[in-house]
Amino acid sequence: MTRLFALAAVLGLALASLADARPVSDPHPTLTVGTATAARGQKVAGAIEVPPAADSGTRIPAVVVHGAKPGPVLALVAGAHGTEYSSILALEKLIDLLDPASITGSVIIVPLVNVASFEQKIAHVNPVDGKSMNRMYPGRMDGTQTDRASYLITKQVVEPSDHLIDLHGGDLDESLRPYSYWTKTGNAPQDSIAREMVLAFGLDHIVIAADRPKDPAQSRYLENTASTRGKPSLAAEAGYAGTTETDDIDLLVNGCLSVMRYLKMLPGPAAMVEHPVWIEAIPAVKSEATGIFHPLVKRGTYVGKDMRIGYVTDYLNRPIQDVIAPEAGVITYIRAVPSLTKGETIASIGVVAK
Ligand SMILES: [Zn+2]
Repeated sequence: MTRLFALAAVLGLALASLADARPVSDPHPTLTVGTATAARGQKVAGAIEVPPAADSGTRIPAVVVHGAKPGPVLALVAGAHGTEYSSILALEKLIDLLDPASITGSVIIVPLVNVASFEQKIAHVNPVDGKSMNRMYPGRMDGTQTDRASYLITKQVVEPSDHLIDLHGGDLDESLRPYSYWTKTGNAPQDSIAREMVLAFGLDHIVIAADRPKDPAQSRYLENTASTRGKPSLAAEAGYAGTTETDDIDLLVNGCLSVMRYLKMLPGPAAMVEHPVWIEAIPAVKSEATGIFHPLVKRGTYVGKDMRIGYVTDYLNRPIQDVIAPEAGVITYIRAVPSLTKGETIASIGVVAK
């Protein structure tokens, strides 16, 4: 009797532990972004449809790579600035590279947010309404095309995700040195994961962004829209001045894959950068007048405070402004073209954290 009872108890325990080992129900049997719905193990292409209102509508291409096994949902976004080509091409490459059969979790890929900018080769803004597509988040449906697109990306890309990576680079007129942003939200556990993510991404210069809006209703930037909603995220920049160099594209592709390894979405260890240069501020130098810009340094050059890093002439080659470094640091980007209008950014200097 005692033995039978003991046996029943052991069986009961075994059954109980079997029940514990049963997989929890899948929170995302399917995953939908815009017109794309993927079941487990599928990669499905579609688009986020932005309806017309006061101005025209648009279709933002999107791919859902729904891994065979449940896990984190990671959003990869590029092309808010549609002529930052390296970042766009990096995600185009990842659309092919990512195999849902070998992924734990899911990847939402939005490689080209600002289609009109890409097609018309217009830097910085959406030519439909003249707005930057990385300043209007979380967006609203009663605004212009950028506002509506931002709202739908918040709802359909940010909200279903656990993490987000927003890719950028130097635009047509910017000669940029690769770097990433670590956003400090003030939430220590979240900031620690985000820090590991930027280290896993692998770029060796990291800007500490501690001054981003804290209010999710006023998040402005895409990465900040994810961060203010409790999702550890990052932004990264590589590429410059309309170029599509393999080195830059590979930095971004490998960075995304390494973050996926850190998040255990892919097998193998993440390649953590060991001794990054932490940048605590990036003061910008603006032009005082319209004219012709002549650089004296290149992207990535380390400069001293008050060093002359370029100058501006008028259209008859008469000097009108010396461009002086406001702080010592690394040129994160410098103007890539001679065209310069009053008030535009000429250069940004990354001030290395002490
Ligand atoms: Zn950008």
